Amino acid sequence: MTVAANLFRLEDSYARAVPGLSVPFKAAPAPAPELLALNQELAAELGVDPADLREPSGLALLVGQVPEEVTTVAQAYAGHQFGLYSPRLGDGRAVLLGEVIDTAGRRRDVHLKGSGRTRFARGGDGKAVVGPMLREYLIGEAMHGLGIPTTRALAVVATGERVYREDGRQPGAVLARVAASHLRVGTFQYAAQYAAQSGDPDLLRSLADYAIARHYPEAAGAPNRYLDLYRRVVAAQASLVTRWMLVGFVHGVMNTDNTTISGETIDYGPCAFMDAFDPATVFSSIDHQGRYAYGNQPGVLQWNLARLAEALLPLIDEDSEAAVEAATEVLNGFAGAYERQLGEGMAAKLGLVAPDRELMKEIMELLQRQQVDFTQFFRALSGGTARTLFTEPEPFDAWAARREARLPADRAAMAAAMDRINPLYIPRNHRVEEALAKATAGDLEPFHRLVEVVSRPFDERPGLADYTGPDPAGGAPYVTYCGT
Ligand code: AMP
Ligand code: MG
Repeated sequence: MTVAANLFRLEDSYARAVPGLSVPFKAAPAPAPELLALNQELAAELGVDPADLREPSGLALLVGQVPEEVTTVAQAYAGHQFGLYSPRLGDGRAVLLGEVIDTAGRRRDVHLKGSGRTRFARGGDGKAVVGPMLREYLIGEAMHGLGIPTTRALAVVATGERVYREDGRQPGAVLARVAASHLRVGTFQYAAQYAAQSGDPDLLRSLADYAIARHYPEAAGAPNRYLDLYRRVVAAQASLVTRWMLVGFVHGVMNTDNTTISGETIDYGPCAFMDAFDPATVFSSIDHQGRYAYGNQPGVLQWNLARLAEALLPLIDEDSEAAVEAATEVLNGFAGAYERQLGEGMAAKLGLVAPDRELMKEIMELLQRQQVDFTQFFRALSGGTARTLFTEPEPFDAWAARREARLPADRAAMAAAMDRINPLYIPRNHRVEEALAKATAGDLEPFHRLVEVVSRPFDERPGLADYTGPDPAGGAPYVTYCGT
């Protein structure tokens, strides 16, 4: 069904394809909506005039106040959080507004986060606050600028309500998020659990068929379409985590409910970019064991994908042993695919003609030992100034001499190619904090400027030197929170 909700033509293919995986739910009223940030480029992609979204009727839509005919839903899912299984998570504070077919013909979810308590809310109040919602907007745009598949924010609207948080009363906000879909590993876990309990695999099969139709239509023609779906999700996620690793991104909360089927990055909670290279880097205040540390991300993803395999087993083969064997074979390909893509990506970052494990390993060890800034290093390498980043430059010199033999003849072209993939501007932690603190206090200027800077991460522009490095004041290690 398509419903014209003033600006969007909203579809509900998810709610219809997998009834039982969502419940109708209406967003809570927002007393005094005020637009804090609007993604004009994304609005245009969705076929909407950004000016219309700024109107009171547009704002109403962005906080979920929709005409009677539109049924917004909260989605059901399960998930492993820090390794512990929760059979019923779901959208505790979010609703799916609907799906929009964008100007390129792609089906995109428009989802509202912070729109009030749903029946899936356990402890929480169903609300969200300005700082964390703007953080999601900012980091999503940075990832998009880096060319990394991601959900993106369409808008952040302050609700006019004050919400209680540990650090006092905070301005409430709703984030409108656009995603290829909100199908997660946890969605499959939920459906698989239902299949196991009821003995009826129809819902699980409908979900898998829906995922195939929406994301991997090529799999429909495969001899074993569900195994092929699995293979494609594994490939998409292997590629995604490689991209994170190559830019020093730490997701922070890689629970199975935050691992998408589409291969987009989702849920920018306690995430941050690493400064000095260290695989043990953790930012999240609650990640005491370092489960989701930078260097653990590929392994954690593989673990999450094993959970997806378990959910899909009944569809892959009626014979459970054969199903396990087939899925295991696919999953066993993950580590190799990751290593190969990381090697290729690192070779490109270093300007090498071909991947070179030894050179890569050596420079990573050097960066770690001398606590060199990960982002600055690659940019300085193409610029010929990397030596200055090392407190003890001799080992770097020895490495650079060996690198010489592995470089292409045309050095100018090499440097230009490196600068197209090695970002100059990432969301530096102190800049993010400054922008969010000011925005929460009512000054949005630093936020908008930072979004502008990180949206074009590779293009050096005058006057932006202050955005290229870690906090000059140093200080305590950066800590992030599962901002709700
Ligand atoms: P997240 O950490 O954002 O991936 O959320 C994990 C789960 O906690 C999801 O089921 C959310 O809907 C739920 N959740 C997070 N914050 C809140 C909140 N303020 N109120 C209700 N549920 C929440
Ligand atoms: Mg989540």
